[in-house]
Amino acid sequence: MKRLCLMFLFVCLFLSSCSFSSNVSDHKCYYISDSTLTEEAEVVETVGLLSAECTEITNADVSKYSNNSVTIYYPLFNDEFVDGIIKGAIDSHLNGLSSDVVACFDFFVSSGQGGISIIFYDSTSVSSSLRNVFSVTFSDDYSKTLSLESFIDAKSPTDHVVKTVDKLYGGEGAFKHNKEIVFYTDPKGITVIDTLGQRFSIPKESFNGRASRLVTVGKDYNPVQQNEKVIALTFDDGPNYKTTSYLLSILKEKGVKATFFTVGYNIPGNEYLLRRMIDHGCDVGIHSYAHQNFNTMTYEQVKEDIEKCGELIKNATDIAPYLVRAPFGNVSEEIVSEKEYYFINWCVDPYDWTAETPEEVYEHVINHARSGSIVLMHDLYSNSCDATALIIDKLKADGWRFVTVSEMFDMKNNSPSGKIYYGLGY
Ligand SMILES: [Zn+2]
Repeated sequence: MKRLCLMFLFVCLFLSSCSFSSNVSDHKCYYISDSTLTEEAEVVETVGLLSAECTEITNADVSKYSNNSVTIYYPLFNDEFVDGIIKGAIDSHLNGLSSDVVACFDFFVSSGQGGISIIFYDSTSVSSSLRNVFSVTFSDDYSKTLSLESFIDAKSPTDHVVKTVDKLYGGEGAFKHNKEIVFYTDPKGITVIDTLGQRFSIPKESFNGRASRLVTVGKDYNPVQQNEKVIALTFDDGPNYKTTSYLLSILKEKGVKATFFTVGYNIPGNEYLLRRMIDHGCDVGIHSYAHQNFNTMTYEQVKEDIEKCGELIKNATDIAPYLVRAPFGNVSEEIVSEKEYYFINWCVDPYDWTAETPEEVYEHVINHARSGSIVLMHDLYSNSCDATALIIDKLKADGWRFVTVSEMFDMKNNSPSGKIYYGLGY
């Protein structure tokens, strides 16, 4: 919570274009003409890094580095790792400055795409050339620093992303070789700052689904260890105010996490159920917007449908979903190759929607479960919910652990997307 408050504070600081510099209002705003852009890059704003309006900040959470000629203000996140990264970035920038530089650096914080960026800029320089701008970006779970390649698949970056970055950095190969690219994340995509200090946005859409997905995992994320007996229960077709709510109370009571593949048209009015899932550490994934067979739809229609459901989940939970279960498990290779998503099918199917008693579902699952199984059920049937309680009691007693899909495949640590997952090891 503290971190959230801090982030909020920094975003506020950014929005109000704060600066410590008294002469910041002298700075000019500059405009970038469309003709300087490559085809699909976009200007973020027409205003330069240093827009007018300044407010004095006195806040304990902002610190300051100062020697005789250079002063750098920087945020404190009260996180050892992140504060260390920020100090490291400041040190390496200082090392690159010639000794006659006199400068005062201010900063702003921007976030999006699973990353948080701190952008330092020389608030005393009108030209704000590249040597006077530097940035550091880390993942929003505070676990690692991120390069531009972390957001854009370095193995197959889209042509125009490469061309844009190459052009901004004055030569072919800049994208590939220049690790010093100044960029930051924002809600719309990635912004790259060129050698003149001008900013160019690479919109999220233009990654063309090839951006490496930064996986936000549930609470108490605990990936599968070797030789552990694990199983992932997955529930499709909800949320439903009655049965999903009932199932969540069972999961909570038994201290078990599961994975929900929700249908977009069921979400409006039931957003609180998605938040309950997230609060309980469950994974929430996409099960399409309209539950149509993807194999009867065009590529564009499928993408649109997945995104529509994803938006609803994102709006309800603040977390962009990346797990997808296609209705009926039907999905084309072309769609599966979208690296933005992981496609999750199953290997145990008790046909719970035809079951007349919870015991039927229970028997099937117990008889077919192997370690690493993904079980398909539906949170629309009270039989399925009651069966879940029985399954949990039995398997727990036998030493099994119930994991979410992201834990099963340790998705946070880069398990590959672009294929269909059926279970761990099969
Ligand atoms: Zn379904």
